[in-house]
Amino acid sequence: MKIGAPKETARGEARVALTPESAQHIKKLGHECLIEAGAGEAAGFDDDAYREAGVTVVDGAQALWEAADVVIKVREPSEEEAGFLRQGQTLISFFWPAQSEELLEKCRAQGATVIAMDMVPRISRAQKMDALSSMANIAGYRAVIEAGNNFGRFFTGQVTAAGKVPPAKVLVIGAGVAGLSAIGTAASLGAVVRAFDVRPEVAEQIESMGAEFLFLEFDESQDGAETGGYAAPSSPEFREKQLALFREQAPDVDIVITTALIPGKPAPKLWLEDMVKAMKPGSVIVDLAAEKGGNCDLTVPDERVVSDNGVIVIGYTDFPSRMATQASLLYATNVRHMLNDLTPEKDGAIVHDMEDDVIRGATVTHAGEITFPPPPPKVK
Ligand code: NAD
Repeated sequence: MKIGAPKETARGEARVALTPESAQHIKKLGHECLIEAGAGEAAGFDDDAYREAGVTVVDGAQALWEAADVVIKVREPSEEEAGFLRQGQTLISFFWPAQSEELLEKCRAQGATVIAMDMVPRISRAQKMDALSSMANIAGYRAVIEAGNNFGRFFTGQVTAAGKVPPAKVLVIGAGVAGLSAIGTAASLGAVVRAFDVRPEVAEQIESMGAEFLFLEFDESQDGAETGGYAAPSSPEFREKQLALFREQAPDVDIVITTALIPGKPAPKLWLEDMVKAMKPGSVIVDLAAEKGGNCDLTVPDERVVSDNGVIVIGYTDFPSRMATQASLLYATNVRHMLNDLTPEKDGAIVHDMEDDVIRGATVTHAGEITFPPPPPKVK
């Protein structure tokens, strides 16, 4: 089959779904690789690098979409791109089907099979295809780098001839993949790191990275729930306790990185205006939940704003694209692992096995049907 990657069309998107390295692996599956001219440039891969890897460089998006049996890309297709899809063609990309009903219907009507990389089930066997985690890992790392770039002081404490420098204090809220990556990065730079999550089971992971888990004392009788000392995170009592904890931290911390998300819901507001006001001038907040409305009251998606008291609030939503080379290398690896599972005989023939948990889970349109949402996976 011909596997083709077009140039991304979303504004500011620098990533690419095929790298010269991933092409080598895809070719071993018996496929041919195509790339639109210039598609890898913003990520640091020029057309010659692809040619050297045996990839055919195709001029123009339309020619690429026409030539490819399987189109691999990063972002969900634009309306124009969805219009290029044809009967029997397969698209592999991020898709966000729950938020893209019209696009889903259009792809179905075009007769294409769509595999959504954001729908890969989070089971052990599928970790190598887990593009959400690959990108979240980069976002967490980059959030710390971005914070450092805006923070006027060292992360690490130092004793120098010119004076003693205290270490920066970093608070990470939400310890999923992005949060843990931010904790590890900030700790490796020498900061004093604290972290909080509503899931107490992450305490061990946080502590193993050299950070302190901020434990929330909560009397379960307050909400009547049998949650082993923890209130249901959605209860108003829990929220009040959580906000009180953050209020206590606000004057003490220099950098806050928020990553708290609840699947399918707007981001919870956790770092309120009064907490920003209580922070020292020159402190930095990086809100990784900006795309979902932000965890901080002052966050403006895609902007860097400075509060009246001199706190910098960063709401960028394109952290992985800001590290386009690394992000493309990891994403392209996730995609080529998906292609590996779609090519069981390694003979260049795609077998779309809807009995396979991972393929079934990620497939959102197939054989003229919308196949989203999928049934729960059979295996953990
Ligand atoms: P996410 O990006 O959806 O959310 C980030 C974090 O925010 C989560 O840890 C969540 O508990 C936390 N959060 C939500 N509300 C909060 C609040 N009010 N205050 C503080 N924290 C709050 O998370 P993610 O990175 O996608 O990871 C979600 C889960 O999936 C984790 O349990 C992770 O270990 C798991 N996971 C499993 C696999 C796998 O098995 N292959 C891969 C990746 C992630």
